[in-house]
Formats: sequence, structure tokens, C-alpha cells
Amino acid sequence: MSKFDSISDLQAAVRSGSTSCRAIVEYYLGQIEKTKDLNAYVEVWAEEALQQADKLDRKFRENPASVGRLFGAVISIKDLICYAGHEVTGASKILKGFRSLYSATAVERLLSEDAILIGRTNCDQFGMGSTNENSAYGPVRNAADPDRVPGGSSGGAAVSVQADTCTAALGTDTGGSVRQPAGFCGIWGFKPTYGRISRHGLLAYGSSFDQIGIFAQKPADIALLLDIMQGPDEFDSTAPDVPKQEQKQHDSGRRRIAYFSQTIDNESVDAGVRSVTRSYIDGLVQAGHQVDPVDFDLLDYIIPTYYVLTTAEASSNLSRYDGIRYGHRSAGARNLEETYVLSRSEGFSEEVKRRILLGTFVLSSGYYDAYYTKAQQARRLIRNRIQEIFRGYDFILLPVAPSVAGRFGEKSEDPVAMYLSDIYTVLANLAGIPAIAVPAGKDPETGMPIGVQLMADVWKEEDLLGFVGA
Ligand code: GLN
Repeated sequence: MSKFDSISDLQAAVRSGSTSCRAIVEYYLGQIEKTKDLNAYVEVWAEEALQQADKLDRKFRENPASVGRLFGAVISIKDLICYAGHEVTGASKILKGFRSLYSATAVERLLSEDAILIGRTNCDQFGMGSTNENSAYGPVRNAADPDRVPGGSSGGAAVSVQADTCTAALGTDTGGSVRQPAGFCGIWGFKPTYGRISRHGLLAYGSSFDQIGIFAQKPADIALLLDIMQGPDEFDSTAPDVPKQEQKQHDSGRRRIAYFSQTIDNESVDAGVRSVTRSYIDGLVQAGHQVDPVDFDLLDYIIPTYYVLTTAEASSNLSRYDGIRYGHRSAGARNLEETYVLSRSEGFSEEVKRRILLGTFVLSSGYYDAYYTKAQQARRLIRNRIQEIFRGYDFILLPVAPSVAGRFGEKSEDPVAMYLSDIYTVLANLAGIPAIAVPAGKDPETGMPIGVQLMADVWKEEDLLGFVGA
């Protein structure tokens, strides 16, 4: 249960005088303390957050009309997003002690609207993982059942909202890292169209997939944060000027929604996920929407395409961590070659090394055409097919994941099983389309939360958010 229903609820409380920004920050700091064992945060900026709160309380007292749109909202940021003067490590050893020289554009835009940043959240190293077990700071625990994973890679961000330690959280989503943990934790998680929010100041993993995403208790808060962070940025040429669509109020118009039967009625999908998704569909039909099964024969290609392309991009992006320019440098190195080899061997986790090796392999001469080029072609086919579906439908519906949050260790020994669990989320990143995880129910067997996912065509995030109630 969260203390405030939404950002506007929180702001109304401050405006009415029943609370103050300081009291709000104190409440969230108390929550962080109470839920410390969940390991959601790797650093809490308590003093700074309190100072910012006092500054905002003064600003409000002097002129209530002068405060920004995020006045009083308390936000956590994933340890992959830069905030000037603060440490950012991508939950790795290789960046231990590294302080950002500048802030991500998204962070700057939040601050310019009077947000309060409360801390940096735990995640899988460089965003690589689906359970948050792959972090130099240790795993994050799911607040719904501390013996289970929160999902990943933005597990700390999801739990920071789930455990009511902040109003909203920024995560990153390369293949589902916002939506899947949101689904596992029973909150809302949203990834915009590729390029809608600038990637400037986001530690790169797979640059043609990465997007900053938002976790919140209410879709209206997601819409507000998106509106503030989105738009062109001179530091990111993939963030273009998109004609802004009108913010729609709750849209009760009849919509056409497609789903792929094989993603639901499938033996390998948990019974709880099947029944929650089916009843969500029934609800849509009862509300008067047209919901149709549609053929999607490229499902088998999704995971290989995603993992060939993202590992290729990661192997190139992560070459900058060389022990020379910044981050960890091995104490045992006696020459240049050893500086590279030892620093990288000591600084990266097993999973990150696996991906760098895999990515280097698929890009190597002799294999490039067979893997990298082929995967680019498969990505194009997948995009084309998705575009074709959007010619007849407004949204595509999928489960968030084939199963509920598992127990620690269940998948971490088997990387392929871990990769396969991303099957329903990576589609949106391959196609570059916006997608949202909607809390939809609970698993009768384990009691764990289950989410469903809705995807829309590129740049249609306002439409999507309006549909789900923003
Ligand atoms: N689990 C996926 C991966 O490991 C997605 C990660 C992400 O979105 N950052 O690549």
C-alpha cells in the first residue's frame, strides 16, 4: 500500500497544508530504512533529498504558483543513469568509485520540474539479466515474497516503488527490464518508443534497443513523467522532434486489440499467467473492445535475434571500460596488455563477460554475415510484421512473462533458460514500439503478482497511456 495514490494526490496534500515536502521525504526515508533488507538501493541521497525538500517548501511558501510540475515527487534512478557529481556504476565493480561529470537529459528535465531524487537503485550489471541476481551489490528481493526475485534488470527500481520508498522510479529497458520487474512486483512499468526519451547519460548496453522507462503506482504518473522527459535533445540524434499528440482523458472508445494465442495457450506458460491474461481479455471484450487472435509466426526468432544483436552492440559499447580512462584498474598489471586483461577480468561479472564474448564472436569476420547480418534481417522481418498488424489493430496484448517471479537461483545457473524468459518483452525493443506492463492479478498458487502487456505503434504512447487510464 502506498501512502500517496499518485503525484497529484501528493501535491494536493502539500497544497492543503496537511504535509510538506520535508515530511514526504522523511516518510520515504523511513520506508527505505524499514525495507533495507530488500536491497533495492545501492545509495540513498538522504541529506540532499531533505535539502531539496526544504528548498521546495520555501519556494512554495513564497509563491505557490512558482513550483514545477513534479513539485514534491520523490524519484529513484537506476544505477545506469548519470547524475552529475554522483557515483554511477551499472552495478559493476569496473565502475566502482566513478562519478558522473554530467546528468542524463532525462534527469535534468525531472530536476527542472522540481523533482526530488532520493537515491540510486540496484540492477543487473549493465542491465544484463532478468532476475537482478547479477549485481555487484548482491540480489534485490521481491517485497511480495522476499524469497523470490524482483525481476530484472531494473529490480531495485521496481522494488523501490513496490515498497513505497519513492513516488516513481526511472529504469532502463533494452529487452524488458522495466516491464518484466514491474509485472513481477505488481506495479506499472512503461517503455516508450525508441528515441522518445533521450539516451544521453544512460550507460549504453544495446544502443539500438536501450530506452529509459518509468515505474509508478498509477499510469497518470507515467504520462506526466513521460511528458516531462520526452522530446528532442541535441546530445542524442535518435531523439527526434515528434509531433506531440493530445493528452487524452480516459478513452472509452471501442478499440481493436490483437493477441497471439500461442503466447497464452501454451504448456510452458504458467497456469496463473494463462488465466490472468485470459480474464484480462474477457474484461476487454466485456468493455466492448474487439479482441482478436492474430497469427505471428516469427515468435521462435525473437530471442535469437535479440541476443545476437544486443550482445554485438554490448561488446562494442563495453570496450570503453578498459582500465585506462576510468573505473577499476587492476593493481596486479605490469604492462598495457595486462592492464586491459586483468582490469576487465576483475571488473566484469560472468554474465557480462559471456555477452562480450558472444557479441565479439557474432561480429567476427567469417561469422558476421551468418549471425549479425542475419539477425538484422530477422529484426526487419519482425518489425515489418508488427507494422502490418498495427494497420488493422490499435494495440497488441501479450503476457509480460511466461511465469511469475521465481525463487533465487532457479534460473541463474542456466543462461539459456534465463534468456528464454524474456520472450514476450523483447518484441517491443526489436520493433522499437512503446509497451506497458499493467498489473492484472495474482497467481492463485503462489500469490505473486501477474501483469499483462499492451503495445502500441511507434509514437502512440499517449494513446496507449490514455487507454489504460492515464
Ligand atoms: N533481460 C534482458 C537482457 O538481459 C533485458 C535487459 C534489459 O532490458 N536491460 O538483456
